[in-house]
Amino acid sequence: MARIVAKFGGTSVADTARIEKAADKIAREVALGHEVAVIVSAMSGVTNQLIEYCAAISETYDVREYDTVVASGEQVTAGLMAIALQKRGISARSWLGWQVPIISDEVHSKARIQDIKTPLMEDSLKNKHVAVLAGFQGVTTEKRITTLGRGGSDTTAVALAAALKADRCDIYTDVDGIYTTDPRIVPEARKITRISYEEMLELASLGAKVLQVRSVEMAYKQNVPVQVLSSFDDAIGSDLPGTLVTKEEDIMEQYVVNGVAFAKDEAKVTVLGVPDVPGVAAKLFGPLADAAINVDMIVQNISPDSTKTDMTFTIPQTDLAHALEVLKSQELFKNSEIRTATDVAKVSVVGIGMRSHAGVAKTMFAALAEKGINIQVISTSEIKVSVLIAKEYLELAVRALHAAYGLEKAA
Ligand code: ASP
Ligand code: MG
Repeated sequence: MARIVAKFGGTSVADTARIEKAADKIAREVALGHEVAVIVSAMSGVTNQLIEYCAAISETYDVREYDTVVASGEQVTAGLMAIALQKRGISARSWLGWQVPIISDEVHSKARIQDIKTPLMEDSLKNKHVAVLAGFQGVTTEKRITTLGRGGSDTTAVALAAALKADRCDIYTDVDGIYTTDPRIVPEARKITRISYEEMLELASLGAKVLQVRSVEMAYKQNVPVQVLSSFDDAIGSDLPGTLVTKEEDIMEQYVVNGVAFAKDEAKVTVLGVPDVPGVAAKLFGPLADAAINVDMIVQNISPDSTKTDMTFTIPQTDLAHALEVLKSQELFKNSEIRTATDVAKVSVVGIGMRSHAGVAKTMFAALAEKGINIQVISTSEIKVSVLIAKEYLELAVRALHAAYGLEKAA
C-alpha cells in the first residue's frame, strides 16, 4: 500500500466528463489499496475568466478580493470531484484551503504556504476516505483567503504530499511527461523516464511550463517524488507511465545532457562605454535587482584602453521598458548609449552528467557553428550551458543540439 497525492490540472477537469474520467483513475488507485488525497485545479479557462471579471470592474482591484474571487474556481471542482467519487462507491469529501487549514503568508495573489495542519487529512486517509482538496488556495493567520500564484495547484499538491509524507505526488496533466525538448520542434524528442529535481528546475524555469517552478523547488527541498503524467491516457499513476522527478541517486541511466530548453521572451541590453572601475557592476545591477528585475546572462567585455567597457545582459522582455527607466535614472548611466534587442532567444542544454564530463560546451558550440549560427552571449552553471542567439535560428539550433547529443536515442 502506498500513500499518493494525485493532482488534476485544468484540462483534466475541464468538464464533468473529464472529472468523471479522473474519478475513474482514483477509483482504480483505491481498489489497489492505496491511500489517496486528490488536489484539483479549476476547470480550464475558469481562472482566466474570474480574473477578467475583477479587471472588468476595476483595473486596480484589491488583490485580497481578487484572491476571494479566483479561489472559487477550485471550490467548484473539489465538490464535483467528491460527487464523482461518491458515485463510484468511494467515500470522499471535499476540503477548501481554510478548512485544513493551509496557512500562507499575506502576499496576496502569489502567497507562499507556511504550514499545513495535517490532522484532518491524516484522519481522512486512515479511515479510507478520499480527501479532495481545492488547490491554489490558502488562508492567512488573519483568516483572509489567499492564492498561490498561477499554476499554484502544483505547489498545493507537492506541499500536501510533503506534509503527509506521501510516497508519490502524481501530477495529471495534458502531456504524458517531460520531453528531451519540445516535440513540436523536434518530433524525435523522447519522453524522459526519470529526471533529477535540479534538472527539472532548470527545464521548468527555462520554459518547459508543465510544473510551477515553486512546486519543483519544494519537491527538491522536501524530497517528494513527483510524477508528471497524462490524464488522457488509460494508465494510472501507480503504473508509472509518466516522468518521475526524483533525487539524483534514484536515477539509473545517467545522460550527460538530458534536455534542450529554450526561451523566446528574453531581451538583450548592452550599456556602452561604462567606466571600467570597481563598483560599476554593482551600480548597474543593484538598482535592477531593487526593481525586482531578474537579470539572467551577463557579459562584460574587455576595454581596449582599460578605461571604458561594455556590459551586456539579458532580462525578461516584459521588464525591458522598466529596466531602461531604472538605468536612465542612475547618474552613472544617464548619458550612456544603451542598445536593446528583442529578436533574440536563449537555448540551453541541461544535464547533471555535466559535472563529471568535459566537452559538453564544445559539442554545443561545434553544432551551432556547423549550422552557421552566431552566439551572442554564453553563460554556464554546473549543470547547464546557455547561449543567446538570433531568434530566427531558434528551431534550427534546438534541432541541431538535440541531434548533437543523441537525445532521440532510447536508453
Ligand atoms: N487555477 C489556477 C490557475 O489557473 C491554479 C492552477 O491551475 O494550478 O493558475
Ligand atoms: Mg498547471
